[in-house]
Amino acid sequence: MSEFLLETHGLTKQYGHHKAVDSVNLHVKKGAIYGFIGRNGAGKTTCLRMIAGLARPTAGEISLFGYSGKEILQVRSRVGCLIETPGLYRNMTAYENLKVKCLMTGIKKKGYIEDILESVGLADTGNKRVKNFSLGMKQRLGVALALVGEPDLIVLDEPINGLDPQGIAEVRDTIQRLCDEKNMTIIISSHILEELAKIATDYGIIHNGSLIQELTREELMRRCSERIEITLDNPESALPVLDNMGFVNYQVADKNHIYVFERLDESAALNMELAKHGVLVKGISITSEELESYFLNLTGGAADA
Ligand code: ATP
Repeated sequence: MSEFLLETHGLTKQYGHHKAVDSVNLHVKKGAIYGFIGRNGAGKTTCLRMIAGLARPTAGEISLFGYSGKEILQVRSRVGCLIETPGLYRNMTAYENLKVKCLMTGIKKKGYIEDILESVGLADTGNKRVKNFSLGMKQRLGVALALVGEPDLIVLDEPINGLDPQGIAEVRDTIQRLCDEKNMTIIISSHILEELAKIATDYGIIHNGSLIQELTREELMRRCSERIEITLDNPESALPVLDNMGFVNYQVADKNHIYVFERLDESAALNMELAKHGVLVKGISITSEELESYFLNLTGGAADA
């Protein structure tokens, strides 16, 4: 069986002539917190709706827990979702909102609702009605509703959108806890990479309906971390020199660049050594990239989000 709990192959959704989602291949590992990043209108919601079974793909396939095609219906109940604004009853308490969902899904276990409220940090909201909740509390109640039925995968569409820093931190803590304590796999979308960077273990970046990159947290941090950036014509020719000098943490980034992630104070010596061995260096500098600018560069310039 595949190492992925969720995979999509060529997932496509077309509205008229417009492909909102265009041949997307997602790979979500078991236990991952998968950050699905894209600007407004990039196609995140449409993609997540298809994964959650709320929209039918125009083309492509979804494989969930190893099931695909019609067989996927057998495992749909293992997926919980919060997509767009959660449908909450404003005049009811958090407990009552969950009670309604439990009644609809036939769950009658004692202490069940209390446990869920506990896991999203709403255990002490008592008689407070939802209309008096902060936006962050409402979002966490939305997450709580997605948890009814003990799903193995939860899909959260922009759960931190519009929240203040305190609300963001609370939702983030809740998600982290669900992953750690309940061993859940979580897909969470956002248009702000910075906000997911603290929790996501893997990332998928979507732009204009296409998935332009999938990478792990380590890869992302590596790409954004401080480094010596060497610009030259033939990176391969420099590698023996780097090896001789004892550098191990480096990477040929493309056909004109090498990134070195260690001994940043030795860039001058490195430059000299390369010259001595006849390697023509066009430029050498120390750079780092902010997460957000990394994302913006990938998706083509200034934010419009
Ligand atoms: P946002 O954060 O703004 O929701 P998103 O990344 O989730 O953005 P989607 O909502 O998936 O993006 O929309 C992707 C594209 O598909 C947009 O151009 C949108 O206008 C279009 N779209 C979405 N739903 C429909 C629909 N039902 N009919 C026609 N076009 C649609």
